[in-house]
Amino acid sequence: KKEEWAKMKNEPSVSADGEHVELVANIGTPEDIAGVQNNGGEGVGLYRTEFLYMGKSQLPTEEEQYEAYKTVLEKMEDKPVVVRTLDIGGDKELDYLDLPEEMNPFLGYRAIRLCLERDDIFRTQLRALLRASTFGNLKIMFPMIATLEEFRQAKAILEEEKANLLSEGKEVSETIEVGIMVEIPSTAVMAKQFAKEVDFFSIGTNDLIQYTMAADRMNERVSYLYQPYNPAILNLINNVIEASHAEGKWTGMCGEMAGDEIAIPILLGLGLDEFSMSATSILPARTQISSLSKEEMASYKGEILSMNTAEEVVEFVKAKAALQ
Ligand code: PEP
Ligand code: MG
Repeated sequence: KKEEWAKMKNEPSVSADGEHVELVANIGTPEDIAGVQNNGGEGVGLYRTEFLYMGKSQLPTEEEQYEAYKTVLEKMEDKPVVVRTLDIGGDKELDYLDLPEEMNPFLGYRAIRLCLERDDIFRTQLRALLRASTFGNLKIMFPMIATLEEFRQAKAILEEEKANLLSEGKEVSETIEVGIMVEIPSTAVMAKQFAKEVDFFSIGTNDLIQYTMAADRMNERVSYLYQPYNPAILNLINNVIEASHAEGKWTGMCGEMAGDEIAIPILLGLGLDEFSMSATSILPARTQISSLSKEEMASYKGEILSMNTAEEVVEFVKAKAALQ
């Protein structure tokens, strides 16, 4: 199997019926790029920037961040790099921010909520990103977006910082796409409205599943409810993909589900454009996709979306996609 995978390293990601999808990687630091290249990644679908902020005694400076973003963009040459702005809070804490303890951290003050209030932190990151943008193919993505207002505010701050940099005589790329993570059910439901304003979506299934099923992604006791193949989740995913395509936009997925061999045939059939996963999953995924007909998988869409349980979905997909 390993040899079969290795042969796929420099191949494009194409289904058996010739449809192209993009297989990209999730990274946490610039050092992870070597793994992306060794595994034939076509880009970075999620750069989790939290690591720049963690394990230190103070906030990272604009310069420190600029260097990290520039390194990733340069190393990836002109391949797409989706950088997610700071997603701190929930399971990820920062000692030096001294945030009050919360009853429900996963439902609390985190990610874009924190960034919109502490816009000093947010602006520093955005300036670093904008300055690095000329070194590659940068896409900026906001995490934990729950409402259109949040997206508009975040985008407005980004535009302000861009204008500031330009007036300081700094160079900024003119082709940066600006998108959001879809990981809160309200946003998946409202995808049609969002699709008119964002450049792309990336579905964060790790959180989308936890919030849709009301099951803490880290709590073993309720892990039976953490169901990626539940038709509720699949219908939300389908809604997002359809909404994006109706507006000529694209949808990716950067949660664990994107690299899962049972999910891949379903997602291919739903028309997902970009699959972002850990680098080591890319070659197995590319091999699997090369054996699947997208048209055939798409023909099962109506049937799968109207199924009753996750179990039914799994059984059906295993049979149709030749998985044991
Ligand atoms: C997600 O929620 O699916 C995601 C990719 O983000 P994280 O795992 O960092 O919350
Ligand atoms: Mg998330």
